[in-house]
Amino acid sequence: MKFLTDRTTGKLAKKLRALGFDVLYWGEGQIEEAARAALAEGRMFLTRSRRIPSLGKDLQVTILEADSPREQVREVLQRLRLEPPEEKYFSRCLLCNEELHPVPKEEVEERVPDFIFRDYDSFHICPRCRRVYWPGTHLERMRKEVDRILSGEDPANWEMIDRTTKGVCRRKEAGEK
Ligand SMILES: [Zn+2]
Repeated sequence: MKFLTDRTTGKLAKKLRALGFDVLYWGEGQIEEAARAALAEGRMFLTRSRRIPSLGKDLQVTILEADSPREQVREVLQRLRLEPPEEKYFSRCLLCNEELHPVPKEEVEERVPDFIFRDYDSFHICPRCRRVYWPGTHLERMRKEVDRILSGEDPANWEMIDRTTKGVCRRKEAGEK
């Protein structure tokens, strides 16, 4: 299932991308434009707004009740009965939504901190923004969080995803050697 989020659910986009979902973020214009874009691309429109334009029965919309992005993730997974496969976690760039490509270790030596280069052998890169990603302890934590949600247990701490997604990507800034 592909999604489109708007300004009312903006922070949800990165969290769903971290789980491997294809999420387009529509940050401009009126809700009608966002809804039209969702319809045109066959995406489920995730919004908090209740003023949904009537664009026909093919428009898929889920109006979210939850306020916080982490509760919204739970709502999306539960209401749409989604069980994202683990192998898809962190398979997309959190910022661009592009699918990451594997990159040989030697090509990232200059672009990641020394201790990361030493400790990890598997690296991926975003074809658009060139950010480099590597697997870390965040993967295991993410699995546990999603397990909790899917089992109906109260997710004790969705902040984990915030913390881990900040740690998962590093990029050499433009001009930096
Ligand atoms: Zn990117």
